[in-house]
Amino acid sequence: MAAKLLTGKEVAAKMDQDIQKEVQELKAKGTNPALRIIIVGDAPDSVFYANSAKKMAEKNGIACEIEQLAGTMSQNDFVALLKQRNADRNIHGIIVMRPFPKQISEDVVKHILAPEKDVDCFNPVNAGKIMAGDLTGFPPATPQAVMEMLKFYEVPMSGKEAVVIGRSMVVGKPMAMLLLQENATVTVCHSRTKDLPGVCRRADIVVAAIGKAKMITPDYIKAGATVMDVGINPEGDKFVGDVNTDAAKETAGAITPVPGGVGTVTTRVLLKHVVKAAKLQNP
Ligand code: NDP
Repeated sequence: MAAKLLTGKEVAAKMDQDIQKEVQELKAKGTNPALRIIIVGDAPDSVFYANSAKKMAEKNGIACEIEQLAGTMSQNDFVALLKQRNADRNIHGIIVMRPFPKQISEDVVKHILAPEKDVDCFNPVNAGKIMAGDLTGFPPATPQAVMEMLKFYEVPMSGKEAVVIGRSMVVGKPMAMLLLQENATVTVCHSRTKDLPGVCRRADIVVAAIGKAKMITPDYIKAGATVMDVGINPEGDKFVGDVNTDAAKETAGAITPVPGGVGTVTTRVLLKHVVKAAKLQNP
């Protein structure tokens, strides 16, 4: 039997509803939730991403300004500007687009962004909060989007075997912590894992965050397992996931498509975080 397709559209629509309701409540109390997206330079990917996030924020009633700075700006000037934005009480969430021009070090800047405004988990304080199970933090958008989808589709996690393939700071590691928080038994795999298909076949939930087009075939999937495909890999003029969806859907019980799956939900997570930040800053 073919797997159920876990599409992102329905999850995003429900999140929009919830966000809009909370935005209205905040506005009624005198707080106008606001997001600031800062770009140093003019990298087309950053500009495109910022514009689409702004559109979605405004659709949900969240004010969003894109601040585009000269690509030649010095690190000291950038740090000074970021501190001003941290102190601005009318800004609740801040996203700084990466990569930076070479004169600006990520390792310096990530400590400057105020953790309470860091809606996309750039500051290591927020990574630490995931480890500690501290719910005042902001997990990165992508693993949080996977959690939103698992919860929306009522996929059982407690006591289940989950395998995360990938151990990056933006996806794999926080993903593992978020699943652990839901009481899954979590295994994290990577490029040196022995017998990856065998390890994956133990899983009730597989999260693929590898960056290798269509690598996960039915050989990696236990019959009936839920497969969450985080991958976004260019293939010709399209994008494909890390899972060979056409083949895997014959074995899996449920599977996310690419496009139209996890990626559809990530920007909503950022907006949900802006609302959460605005609430925490205005108790
Ligand atoms: P990274 O390149 O930072 O990490 C990839 C991970 O996969 C590494 O831990 C690596 O292991 C592991 N890996 C690579 N090859 C293999 C292999 N053959 N077998 C087992 N493990 C392997 O990627 P990201 O975490 O940033 O992104 C992962 C994917 O998710 C990409 O396709 C990316 O485009 C996509 N992505 C999607 C987002 C979304 O919104 N849907 C957002 C962010 C990313 P090792 O550590 O040993 O090198």
